[in-house]
Amino acid sequence: MVSRGLTTTERVLNAAQDELEKAVAPSGFFRRKASTLRSLSTLLQPVFAGQKRVSRSLLLEVSGVGPETADSILLYAFGDPEFVIDAYTSRLLSRLGITGPDARYDDLKSRFENELVCDTNLYREYHALIVQHCKRTCLAKPKCDSCNLARRCCFFGTGMAGSPR
Ligand code: SF4
Repeated sequence: MVSRGLTTTERVLNAAQDELEKAVAPSGFFRRKASTLRSLSTLLQPVFAGQKRVSRSLLLEVSGVGPETADSILLYAFGDPEFVIDAYTSRLLSRLGITGPDARYDDLKSRFENELVCDTNLYREYHALIVQHCKRTCLAKPKCDSCNLARRCCFFGTGMAGSPR
């Protein structure tokens, strides 16, 4: 992996457009992502300098920033208790039968936030454990036979193991 040193808002804002695009190219949609990164850096530079506070609604105004990105920034960079919902979390909750496969982001987020103590470290760890479980066990083709949630899972025993949903 090439290190380009674009690790601060200042460096991102000073980087040439093609340098920024090359840096994000492996994640796809590099033109749009480079532009989002620049807009985010413009918004966040005064925040990191302690001159301004950032809010979820401000982040969501940045083109290319959706709820998952906004909540990830708030939870992991600023320590705000905003539960992050990603594809792993949606898939796991759906398979466990807690929500439907088409549940909306805000409904899933509220569910966690209403049922857990409001605590940044708890949210971070909970989210990380879900991601770890889904990367190791509840994969697109799940390893249900070795899953410690199997007894509580609606997906287990349906004969659909292996069918992503
Ligand atoms: S039993 Fe299978 S589908 Fe259910 S949570 Fe575990 S790995 Fe996922």
